[in-house]
Amino acid sequence: MIDLCTLGTGGTMPLPTRALASLYVRNGARALLVDCGEGTQIGIGRLGWGFLRIGAILLTHYHADHCSGLPGLLLALTKSGRTEPLHIWGPPGLRQVVTGLRVIAPQLTYEPVLHELPAGGGAFEAAGLRVRAFPLDHGMPCLGYRFDMDRPRAFLPEKARALGIPLRAWSFLQRGETVIVDGRTWRPEQVLGEARRGISFVYATDTRPVPGIAAAGRGTQIMILEGMYGGEEDLPKALKNRHMLFRESARLAAGAGTERLLLTHFSTSLEDPEVFLPAARSVFPDTACARDGMILSLDWPDPRAVDRSDRRS
Ligand SMILES: [Zn+2]
Ligand SMILES: [Zn+2]
Repeated sequence: MIDLCTLGTGGTMPLPTRALASLYVRNGARALLVDCGEGTQIGIGRLGWGFLRIGAILLTHYHADHCSGLPGLLLALTKSGRTEPLHIWGPPGLRQVVTGLRVIAPQLTYEPVLHELPAGGGAFEAAGLRVRAFPLDHGMPCLGYRFDMDRPRAFLPEKARALGIPLRAWSFLQRGETVIVDGRTWRPEQVLGEARRGISFVYATDTRPVPGIAAAGRGTQIMILEGMYGGEEDLPKALKNRHMLFRESARLAAGAGTERLLLTHFSTSLEDPEVFLPAARSVFPDTACARDGMILSLDWPDPRAVDRSDRRS
């Protein structure tokens, strides 16, 4: 199971009720953050999932609302006793930005390892997930991220029994390893079922709509896209500032054929983003607005996202 929490759902400037962009992605004992807007550490503290499991930070781009929380977070990780390296990924400019921000957070108990991705993106692994970064259109290098967790194929004990495979070989085969017992070789494909759909989701904000976003969202359970502007009258602003309207994000979700769309990164001008939901839902019905601290769990075998935010105490 993968748990997601939208720590901050605001764009540009924080509001008393809306922190700046950050998504906490928890995969069991491991976790990563996407973006680290000002005050992200407050949201993490409130959430209670802890600092220590965060082993990677993925930055989309270097506007302050996405990365100005980094120095404080780096210090918070030191305070929480981190000694393992922390991996930080981002588009071109990463080294310059992190080096600059480190001037006010020079003393750390661990090593930040910087991975500067090309403007066109790239593939890597973080927190046990396969990650693919893809380019967005924001007037500066900006990346969206697709996350995949592969589902292991099912072990078929009746097949193993029928083939006479000794019990002590089963756990190796279950893990996908070939094993030799008493001179006989057993291969996992002899006892594993069909390939199964895994967990997948996309996070992409701060962009005009580009076909790459819909392409990245294909087959995903949820896409988290920006809802910077609500109504059509804001289209000139969206074009000028390289952002999207609700309707434009909904069209990308529909094009991707994802199961669910969650909008985040709201302009400070959107006092109540839900007012604009009907416009998005007329294009893609399963659309919701994120709130700070909202938790989503992505699970198999039923790969539908379930909003558990109301069950939190
Ligand atoms: Zn932004
Ligand atoms: Zn931006």
